[in-house]
Amino acid sequence: RRGCRAGSAVRCSAAAPTSAAAPILADLRLQCAAPLPVLRRVADAMAADMRAGLAADGAGELKMIPSHVYSLPTGNETGLFYALDLGGTNFRVLRVQLGGKDKRVVDTEFEQVSIPKEIMRGTTEELFDFIAMGLSRFVATESDKFHLPQGRKREIGFTFSFPVKQTSIDSGILIKWTKGFAVSGTAGKDVVACLNAAMERQGLDMRVSALVNDTVGTLAGAHYWDDDTMVAVILGTGTNACYIEQTETIPKLQHLVLGTRNTIINTEWGAFSDGLPLTEFDREMDGESINPGEQIFEKTISGMYLGEIVRRVLVKMAQVSDLFGHSFPKKLAEPFVLRTPHLCAMQQDNSDNLGEVESILNDIIGASQASLEARKTVIQVSDSIIRRGGRLAGAGIAGILEKMENESKGQIFGRRTVVAMDGGLYENYPQYREYMKEAVVELLGPEQSKHIAIEHTKDGSGIGAALLAAANSKYAAQF
Ligand code: BGC
Ligand code: MG
Repeated sequence: RRGCRAGSAVRCSAAAPTSAAAPILADLRLQCAAPLPVLRRVADAMAADMRAGLAADGAGELKMIPSHVYSLPTGNETGLFYALDLGGTNFRVLRVQLGGKDKRVVDTEFEQVSIPKEIMRGTTEELFDFIAMGLSRFVATESDKFHLPQGRKREIGFTFSFPVKQTSIDSGILIKWTKGFAVSGTAGKDVVACLNAAMERQGLDMRVSALVNDTVGTLAGAHYWDDDTMVAVILGTGTNACYIEQTETIPKLQHLVLGTRNTIINTEWGAFSDGLPLTEFDREMDGESINPGEQIFEKTISGMYLGEIVRRVLVKMAQVSDLFGHSFPKKLAEPFVLRTPHLCAMQQDNSDNLGEVESILNDIIGASQASLEARKTVIQVSDSIIRRGGRLAGAGIAGILEKMENESKGQIFGRRTVVAMDGGLYENYPQYREYMKEAVVELLGPEQSKHIAIEHTKDGSGIGAALLAAANSKYAAQF
């Protein structure tokens, strides 16, 4: 701590009162403010970048990846299908018995395990063996509620929540890892081939019928129940959005002669960075991350990072002031100890003495002497970062909707349009959700925004992937 030596606790506290943290808070608020003009700039830049990415690969920050999905589930799909979902934090397996038009989802079961840290930093074989083993164990528990016709292989929809250059509906090459993943040797490889090889090692005979991003799975899952769904957004550990686009307006697909059809574009908006209100804390976190300079939008708005940004602000405050008492709380120095769910829990504390905030600060960062003033400061820091994140996410959504409306007048704001949302951050953080929605309304205005329904599609990506596996089934002719 600057100006504070061991044994000089009292003098230290007199020389550096908690109020020394106030200018840092004021600065932070200035730097990460996202007033309407900033949101407008971000929404417009997002739309411009979408157009660039649709014109040519590498022309903008957004990859705008064609999903090779040309038809969405209709509701007529029948049969038993599996899904595998590799996300940012969890790995899920799921099976679903589809009953067609009236019955729809007859039965569904799933299992979820969190992905061990070693696996996230291990080798490709270790990761895919882990996945195939989990799948194999799960398949072994299939009961006779589920029915696979004789002579058929079990089919899987594989939700893979990372940027993949799709080469077809059932193959695609990992461009790079994001979130906390740093598995060696996977970038540049077909992840379906990796999964097939691991299933073979397990003696598991299944067929991957669809490889989809989690946003694409969410869109397919939501569209199955509500065909006004046009956009899907994930706000969880990481973030991304996809939407329905007309093939005619995708210059980089013209060589495919697709005619007039719709398809889903995975924007990979996490890579966006143009005009974002960033702070010194963001820059430092990025610099020390495993992917410096990449995924800046993701690092500003998604769950993996918001707690860490707040921690960095608190470190600076604790260094120059008495925010947490006489000594610097040791645990506060540990990167990523303070997580977004902790911010959320603290922000739900409405009591006068902020007792919940006190106990979280004590448990998580070892700050046993956080005064009421300090607790309030923590909430204010947290709220600034959450507000910026939510508002920027809203600007991204507005940018996508405006781009879509621009190309097909009336298709978005002239009727009901649903934006399907999923991810722990969206699901669990009411303040974030509100800030996001406020920003959408501010940008679109009351007239246009009344046509937009922002709706939670819980765990839609797994069911969506199973549905896309069904839609692309090898046995599809039998529907
Ligand atoms: C990945 C996306 C994914 C998103 C949400 C991002 O880090 O790049 O592919 O959709 O996280 O899971
Ligand atoms: Mg997920």
